[in-house]
Amino acid sequence: MPELLPRTQLSQESVFARMSRLAAQYSAVNLGQGFPSDAPPAFLQDAARHAIGRFDQYSPPAGLPALRTALGTDLGVNGQDIVVTTGATEALNVLALSLYGPGDEVLMLEPVFDVYIPQARLAGADPVTVPMRLDDAGWAFDFETLERAVTPRTRALLINTPFNPTGTVFSREELLQVVALARQHDFWLISDEVYDELYYGEKPTSLRTLAPERTFTVGSAGKRLEATGWRVGWIACPPGLSGNIAGIRQQGSFCSPVPLQAAVAAALPVARAEGFYEGLRQEYGERQQLLTGGLKELGATVQEARGTYFLTAQHPAWEAEKLVETSGVAVIPGSAFYAAHPVPAGLLRFAFCKSREQIGQALEQLRQRP
Ligand code: GLN
Repeated sequence: MPELLPRTQLSQESVFARMSRLAAQYSAVNLGQGFPSDAPPAFLQDAARHAIGRFDQYSPPAGLPALRTALGTDLGVNGQDIVVTTGATEALNVLALSLYGPGDEVLMLEPVFDVYIPQARLAGADPVTVPMRLDDAGWAFDFETLERAVTPRTRALLINTPFNPTGTVFSREELLQVVALARQHDFWLISDEVYDELYYGEKPTSLRTLAPERTFTVGSAGKRLEATGWRVGWIACPPGLSGNIAGIRQQGSFCSPVPLQAAVAAALPVARAEGFYEGLRQEYGERQQLLTGGLKELGATVQEARGTYFLTAQHPAWEAEKLVETSGVAVIPGSAFYAAHPVPAGLLRFAFCKSREQIGQALEQLRQRP
C-alpha cells in the first residue's frame, strides 16, 4: 500500500471540535468552542429563506456581486477588492497558499489560533511565533520581541485583532509600529479581524486603514451575525490583487453557498441600520461580567477581554480535560494555543457567547464539583 504523506500528520482533531465532542459525551455545559447559543437574527434567517429558489446556482469564485458590493460599503473599500470565501478558515488558507511558500517565514503571536501554524506548514513555509507577555496587568504585546523575530526570510505577519484567545485589542500605536516594520522589511500583513464588531471599550483599528497597500483583512459573517455554521467569510485585498486571490480560492470550493451569500448581502446593511452589533456588544459585555464575577469568586485570576467573546483565566486546580468530566464544564486548555513557548500556569479559555443560563450553570457546577 502507498503511504499517506507526512503532511497529513500536521493537524489532528481540532481542539475546538474535540472539546465540543467531550462536552456532548459528558453532557457538559460547553464554554469551549466559540459559537453562540442564540439563534442568528430573524432578518438574516428570513433573507436566507427568501434566497433559496432564487440564488441556487454558482456565483463567480470571487463571490456574489451583491455581497462584494455590500461588503465594500460596510468595510469602506472597493467591492472589487473583496473575495468571498467559505468561512474565515478558508480565507486564511487561501492567503497562506497565495502569499508564502518554501523558504519563507511567517510571523504570528503566541498564544496562537489553532489553524495558523498548520496552514503555514501546508503552504511549505515556516511559522515563527512571538510570545505575548502575561503578568499581573494582563496580556501585553512586546514590539521589541517581534522586531527581533524578523529575518530576511520573513514574508508575512499574521495578526488577529481583536485577539483570540486573549481578548486583546491592539492599539493604533501598536499597529502603526507593526506597519512601519512591514514597510521597512517589505513583508505582507494578514489581519484576521473576524471579531471586528465585538469589542467592549475602544473601537478596534482595522490594520488595512494604516497600510492599504499590503494588508489582507479577513472577516466572517459567522462571527458577526451569529451563524458560524454558514461558512461565509471574506478577504479584503489590497487594490488590484483580488483576481489572483480568487484564482487560488476557486481551486478549493469554487464558490461559497450562494443562497447564504445572498442572505448575508441583504443582512449586512440591516445589521448596521438596526444597531445589531451595538446590541451584541451590550449583551456580551454583560455576560463577560457575569462570567468574570463568578470565576473570581471561585478563586480564578481573570484577564479582562477588550474584544472577541473569549476570556482567559487561570486557576491552579482546574484542568480542561478533567473539568469536562468531573464538573461537567467544557473549556479550552491554554496549551492548545502554544507551540513553542511555555504555557502560563493553569491557563484556560472560556467562551462567553453562551446563554446566561449556561454561564450560571457552569459556575454553579464549578462551585459544587471543583
Ligand atoms: N473560532 C472559534 C473558536 O476559537 C471556533 C473555531 C473552529 O472551531 N473552527 O472557538
